[in-house]
Amino acid sequence: MTATPLEHRIKALIRLDGPMSVFDYMGLCLADPEHGYYMAREPFGRDGDFVTAPEVSQMFGEVIGAFLVDAWERLGRPAPFQLVEFGPGRGTLMADLLRVAKRQPAFVAAARLGLVETSPRLRAKQAATLAGGPLAPSWYASAEEIPPGPLLAVANEFFDALPIRQFVRDHGQWRERRVGLDADGRLAFGLGPAALADAGLPPRLGTADDGAVVEVSPVGVTVMTGLARRIAATGGLLLAIDYGYSGPAFGDTFQAVRSHTSVDVLQRPGEADLTAHVDFTALAIAAARAGAAVHGPVEQGDFLLALGLAERAGRLGADKDEATRAELVAQVERLVGASEMGSLFKAIAVSRAGLALPGFPPARTFPEAPRP
Ligand code: SAH
Repeated sequence: MTATPLEHRIKALIRLDGPMSVFDYMGLCLADPEHGYYMAREPFGRDGDFVTAPEVSQMFGEVIGAFLVDAWERLGRPAPFQLVEFGPGRGTLMADLLRVAKRQPAFVAAARLGLVETSPRLRAKQAATLAGGPLAPSWYASAEEIPPGPLLAVANEFFDALPIRQFVRDHGQWRERRVGLDADGRLAFGLGPAALADAGLPPRLGTADDGAVVEVSPVGVTVMTGLARRIAATGGLLLAIDYGYSGPAFGDTFQAVRSHTSVDVLQRPGEADLTAHVDFTALAIAAARAGAAVHGPVEQGDFLLALGLAERAGRLGADKDEATRAELVAQVERLVGASEMGSLFKAIAVSRAGLALPGFPPARTFPEAPRP
């Protein structure tokens, strides 16, 4: 099979500059302006590469819409406020959310809709999905572009799409994992020099056996820090849902998915979706350090059931036929089932101190949070 255009480019870069970090490789594969995965491909749905929760069921966005309207009331009905989604994909979650939010006209009147999206192709999709809805969106390339003021933000499967750094334990040292070329000129993993103390490795890693892998998400931490700082200063809320774990933990979670099948991360660069599991502890510590209160993480299944997903399915199905009701039950199972998305996916929220949120236990503080 011939190499992808991006593979040619990456190999040329490696021949010129030497091996590149996993971080640079993942960044190029996802976001290269010409050949990057989100720029060029249609990732979502049955004919795409993967199915996200909003694409599984309209009920996902609907319960999140009700959650956000409720949070807005608890925040004292700020007006105006920025209603923002990070990485909206096809715009499905926002469309479903707004359909429910519309029932509270004061919420819609106060909201200024913003979408943080880097892919021009997906921006066009989002525009089409949201056309005719109650709010006209503005698009931003990053969080810094969002106008000031209180913020209600939601991010589903956004943090997992941000490039990670990987470090591998080797003879008692952590060395950064890199992508280079093997003797036959194929892309292959290798190790860089020993990592410096400020490489962003999680504190309290303890000892690890040779070959252990640890991952950090520098962009994820930076985005979370900026949003938490803003929320601590001017109020609001961030709700992030993603798949991941409470770190620090060892393991290689860098993965590629194409047509709903797991593939080699070094094969066909630019044509597969590359992700890594999210370290929720790292995000929570970043938010706490920035002065915000942290809610959760809680498992997606528990969160959605606490927000009334099952009751919503019951109401939607009440006047429907048997097949439709069975389909709704299957969607609920997909979203909350422990062996489906219910346990691996988690929800975390960030606000100012003193806010109680449905679906979350009281906000936590992190002993690790203050900088040494
Ligand atoms: N939230 C959607 C899509 C998830 S896929 C859903 O649940 O269906 C990840 C999304 O994040 C895509 O829209 C992708 O283009 C966007 N994205 C990835 N990296 C980004 C970045 N650095 N800044 C803004 N958007 C980004």
